[in-house]
Amino acid sequence: MQVIRGGRLLDPPRHRGELGDLFVDGDTIREVGPPGLAVPAGAQEVDARDRLLMPGLVNAHTHAHGALAKGLIGDRWPLELLLNVSPATNAERTLEDQRLSAMLSAVEMVRKGATACLDLCVEFPGPSVDGILAVAHAYGEVGMRAVVAPMVSDRTLYEAVPGLIDAVPEPLRGRVAAMRAAPARTILDVSREIARRWPFDRAQLRPALGPTIPLHCSDELLEGCRDLGREWDLPLQTHLAESRIQAVMGVRRYGHSLTAHLGSLGMLGPTMSVAHAIWIDEDDMRRLADAGVAAVHNPLSNLRLGSGVAPVTRLRAHGVRVALGTDAANTSDSQSMFEATRLAAYLSRVRDPDPDGWLSVDDALHMATAAGGEVLGFGDSIGRLAPGARADLVVLDLRHISYVPLHDAALQVVSGESGLAIESVMIGGRWVLRDGTMQTVDEPRLRQRAAEAALRLGAATADRRAFARSLEPWLGGFCRAYAHTPGAVARPWREPPDPP
Ligand SMILES: [Zn+2]
Repeated sequence: MQVIRGGRLLDPPRHRGELGDLFVDGDTIREVGPPGLAVPAGAQEVDARDRLLMPGLVNAHTHAHGALAKGLIGDRWPLELLLNVSPATNAERTLEDQRLSAMLSAVEMVRKGATACLDLCVEFPGPSVDGILAVAHAYGEVGMRAVVAPMVSDRTLYEAVPGLIDAVPEPLRGRVAAMRAAPARTILDVSREIARRWPFDRAQLRPALGPTIPLHCSDELLEGCRDLGREWDLPLQTHLAESRIQAVMGVRRYGHSLTAHLGSLGMLGPTMSVAHAIWIDEDDMRRLADAGVAAVHNPLSNLRLGSGVAPVTRLRAHGVRVALGTDAANTSDSQSMFEATRLAAYLSRVRDPDPDGWLSVDDALHMATAAGGEVLGFGDSIGRLAPGARADLVVLDLRHISYVPLHDAALQVVSGESGLAIESVMIGGRWVLRDGTMQTVDEPRLRQRAAEAALRLGAATADRRAFARSLEPWLGGFCRAYAHTPGAVARPWREPPDPP
């Protein structure tokens, strides 16, 4: 039992950061009350004077494998160039590498204020039970709450884009055509086995399903994921219409939008979330809203990869729940949920001339906390400072210059927090970061192992990466031309009318 006294409490209902005490019993917040809260004898007192306590941030879209590939996604690369090199940068990984990458990712997220995440984790050519369990184990070691899905596809990028393989110039075509993803049946068997053998406490670590991008998955695989999700009660997440070319290809392949296709397969439902959702139109938004699908906004990677600006205010106007994610450490290189939260608030102001339609800092804070908890399948048990919620907290030092003076806690945190004021992080009642030091991980040792792994993997994947890079000039041009084919259907969303 711990009672955290003297701090200021911040969540959307406590916008200004009022003074209050928190009583934590085991992994749960038992009581929240005014200073001097009466608690049972024996509760350990934690002094939080000059500190701000807020719910841990929930990162609803990331990828553990990205951490060991930091800096390998080039400057000025759109998504398709990333997808082109991804099988190479993630190749040759041992189970220990997968665990290591997830630990790196988790430590970075915790240090930047996230206490829970949804991770789509890739292995090539297909997922393995041991690989996904190794990733989940890493989150457990760090002490972070996580939902881990194998990120799966049974088509390569070159099979996903109609006509792409045929257009690859010789002599590159033979090697591209020989690339193979794992077959749907194998992927589904492994995914079922992961759910069946899941050995972790589901209050902290949960399995999920991640058909990566609809076009990269056959209908057999998508329907199989749908059925597995129902059978094992697993959340599903996919990347939906992240780039313009995906929207164009979707219509070419299916005769209607990607969202409509997922709907026709019975994939859309309240346990489904879609990451990015940039190149969708009003009909798609209605489909998502009607089915109870949540969207995950990833402003950092959307800008980094030039993917576009997601229509977040329109999604919300349709009644779609929207949470926030960072995407992986190699595509939104900071993995900072504070940055993602700020950008979400600010980007909503770019497209909408009416300030009443902009995301407020409270909206952004809700998206970064409670809304994420729902997407992860934890319901309202995380992302809140309330009796009965898990004790997942971030402690900010109000003596930091950003908060001197303090006038409006929510505004100053969302608009100004860079992560520098993060002092401690509690997850499930346990101090995972305390006074700036990770309590669960030997960070110098982690750094050393990461450096060794990066060196070894760099050498082992050099040939594959060089081959992928040799496709870049040609692939980039092809995708640009394809995405902007005259008459291609890729309506992003209706522009709001100009103010009178
Ligand atoms: Zn992603």
